[in-house]
Amino acid sequence: MPGSFLSAKLYKTEQLSANTLQLSFELGQDDRTSFNFIAGQFLQLQFELDGELYKRSYSIANTPDDFKATGQLQVALSLVSGGVASGLFHKAPPGIELNIAGPFGVLTLPETFPGQLILAGTGTGIAPYRSMIPQLKTLTDKGTAVTVVKGFRYREESIYSGDFAQLSYIKYRTCLSRESNVNSADHEYAGHVQDQFDALDLNPEKDVVYLCGNPNMIDDCVAFLRDRGLSPRQIKREKYVYSGH
Ligand SMILES: Cc1cc2nc3c(=O)[nH]c(=O)nc-3n(C[C@H](O)[C@H](O)[C@H](O)COP(=O)(O)OP(=O)(O)OC[C@H]3O[C@@H](n4cnc5c(N)ncnc54)[C@H](O)[C@@H]3O)c2cc1C
Repeated sequence: MPGSFLSAKLYKTEQLSANTLQLSFELGQDDRTSFNFIAGQFLQLQFELDGELYKRSYSIANTPDDFKATGQLQVALSLVSGGVASGLFHKAPPGIELNIAGPFGVLTLPETFPGQLILAGTGTGIAPYRSMIPQLKTLTDKGTAVTVVKGFRYREESIYSGDFAQLSYIKYRTCLSRESNVNSADHEYAGHVQDQFDALDLNPEKDVVYLCGNPNMIDDCVAFLRDRGLSPRQIKREKYVYSGH
């Protein structure tokens, strides 16, 4: 139901890393029962500051089943210096009210894939893949090989590692672009997300790559993947462009 308009309260703020917060929003009882989303979609948070309305988009980080059980929607917010939403949620106490529009977006999973599935994201761009975890299990049970490739500058910026590290049925790689030493036992690799694609033995006829997060990373990855022969329909993307208002 795209375009739904929900009243929500900030329930809890957790620190995922030094510069990343996880915000949990609780919906009212009526919205809990009527609201649905598909893993991979995003919400638009709407809030007023000094009489001005601001709108900021965030991927949903928890699973649809978790939402049904708790009535809460989680997002991961990367704090930006001087940012309006960053400043608000950095200090916001539990209980503040705001509106949420959504769900939006098509970075969602079909029921089957012809080849392997690569889910690549930088920073909080990993959040929608966390929401997909139960579906990833179903896909791997059907024979799809799934690899999650996460990109951060430094090790301490990594988020949701525990959620993916414990999944025996997927492969995952953490790319660290500014660490001088990486620990391969922890699935760490030096460099950027796109540096991993050649090692994944991509089949340009069948494989599908999802890209989420930093717009420059996505443009670089798309150029690389097109060069390797993947067609546009084999590349799905969600760019975290700044709304600027
Ligand atoms: C579909 C979609 C989904 C998104 N999902 C997420 C998500 O799950 N998690 C998330 O953290 N963000 C996400 N974003 C980005 C988010 O909507 C905001 O743009 C971001 O949180 C910055 O908002 P702000 O109000 O704090 O900063 P703003 O007030 O918008 O920006 C303040 C200043 O910081 C600069 N700036 C803004 N963002 C960044 C940045 N990331 N790095 C460097 N400089 C920046 C701006 O150019 C501006 O000069 C998403 C964006 C889209 C379009």
